[in-house]
Amino acid sequence: MLRMGRLILWILILCIFLPYPNGVAQLHLTYKQNKSLSYTQCIAGYSALAKEYPQHCRLLTYGTTDVGKPLHLFVVSGDTLFEPEALQAEGYPVLMVMNAIHPGEPDGVDASFKLATDFLQQPKLLQLLQKAVLAIIPFYNVDGALYQSPYHRSNQNGPESCGFRGNGRHLDLNRDFTKADAANTRTFHEIFHTWKPDFFIDNHVTNGADFQYPFTFITSQVDKLNPSLGAYVKERIVPAIFQSMQSAGKPVVPYVNTYKSTPSEGIVDFMDTPRYSTGYANLFNTLGFVAESNKYKPFPVRVEYTYQFMLTVLQVMVKERERWNAVRKNAQMKTMQQKEFPLSWKLDTTQYAMLDFKGYETRYRKSQLTGTEMIVYDTTAPITQKIRYFNRYIPQQVITKPSAYIIPQAYGDVAQLLRLNQVRLERIAKDTVLNVEVYYITDYQTVKSPYEGHYLHYDVNIRKELQPIRYHTGDFYVPLGQNKDRFIVEVLEPQAPDSYFCWNYFDGVLMQKEWFSDYRFEETAIEILEKNPALKQSFEQKKAADPAFAKDGFQQLYFIFTRSPYYELSHNRYPVARKIN
Ligand SMILES: [Zn+2]
Repeated sequence: MLRMGRLILWILILCIFLPYPNGVAQLHLTYKQNKSLSYTQCIAGYSALAKEYPQHCRLLTYGTTDVGKPLHLFVVSGDTLFEPEALQAEGYPVLMVMNAIHPGEPDGVDASFKLATDFLQQPKLLQLLQKAVLAIIPFYNVDGALYQSPYHRSNQNGPESCGFRGNGRHLDLNRDFTKADAANTRTFHEIFHTWKPDFFIDNHVTNGADFQYPFTFITSQVDKLNPSLGAYVKERIVPAIFQSMQSAGKPVVPYVNTYKSTPSEGIVDFMDTPRYSTGYANLFNTLGFVAESNKYKPFPVRVEYTYQFMLTVLQVMVKERERWNAVRKNAQMKTMQQKEFPLSWKLDTTQYAMLDFKGYETRYRKSQLTGTEMIVYDTTAPITQKIRYFNRYIPQQVITKPSAYIIPQAYGDVAQLLRLNQVRLERIAKDTVLNVEVYYITDYQTVKSPYEGHYLHYDVNIRKELQPIRYHTGDFYVPLGQNKDRFIVEVLEPQAPDSYFCWNYFDGVLMQKEWFSDYRFEETAIEILEKNPALKQSFEQKKAADPAFAKDGFQQLYFIFTRSPYYELSHNRYPVARKIN
């Protein structure tokens, strides 16, 4: 017994003092046992790598998350360059990878840790990062990753246990990129604008249809990218990724977002508006990808596809480095010069490519449980068929950018979000009156139940008016002509789908503040009509044409009130004004 005790003691001592303990050395293979690395294991693993290979990697921490822990960033560099500004000056592109935004979909956690380990342990592989950098966020939704269960992802084929989609505030972080309710998001803004990634991958696992491929991916919608970037991505980058995956023996298809109910009827490019990771990234001319492995395939297979995808994107980025740098630089310049910006898009159903798609026969069958018809993917009957791939979008609403936006300092929270995104803000030096273009919100819809912590607005209509507005010392002046213009327009134009207006940052103006008492206002209303014959005429016309109005005393007084100087100009007036010249 004593001998055995001594042996155990020696093993323990060896485990503690060996520079690379056995447990950590095998961590990158954990996925093979249908297990995903826990937060603690994974951060300990990156920490061990950072100690073992200090020349080539760093484990950094930033800010905080809603669960009080920081966000980690693990950076791998082939030639020991770790300063973001130096990397940008040298033209070394950065691939940033985000994992576990949905911690129930942890494939990227394990694939990224294996990729980092392989880079550091295999000098030949590390050569790929001679003039490029890989920056990994091991866990983005740390909060959800700490909440483990086997029941978080129904019918997902492994791992045994996984995290939860919501974060500490029960938010889906992949809807939070502009509204930025979560501390995780605000910390990410800092990381993103410090490292200014060239390429960005957000790792997920699908829901929905089944098909033969273990892996699919979304590319930032190319029509929505800056035009100089869009053509290049569509013609060079994306085909290179598909070809390389094929050559590596891991063929993939675009994300299976069905046009109708099954892939046979065609698939549609996902429209990534700025609330989503890649929609946010591409506002800054960063090329985004959402990796979506197929939830019905075994976890170890999915991890290996996700690994291969990240390696492939990195290889393509490195190979294209010089051309990419020139194209992106041009896109940044074009963004500053661009006058018109589309705010919304519509799928072009007249254009599509044809894809060879390896799916399964689909049929409808009656559910044994509910007795209703349901679609079944017959995995015993694989088929290859040509399907339509709708991948073009047409701009709908287009606005002309102003020379500047002016934001009253009462909306300091909005200014703070702009600052976090490295938007240049100036302050108004003294109290002054400026002639500006203002929007009145004339109509809008609002969701009926809370959506991601908000009563989101949509279908917003406006009318414009030129008005003199009094500004105070310290109000915010946002000059356009920045390489952040696309972002500024998307968050400050109220009609944009993920604008701060739609996400309720300006709801105060939607409610009238000053009212009247009918029995006292009646006399005033009579006087107003007497002094204003045109108003009196339109009032009489409305009474004659609208019987309900003719019977409604309050509505008649309200009609006159809202056309009188008593009615506040600020009701429904969007507080951010546009400076036109
Ligand atoms: Zn997801």
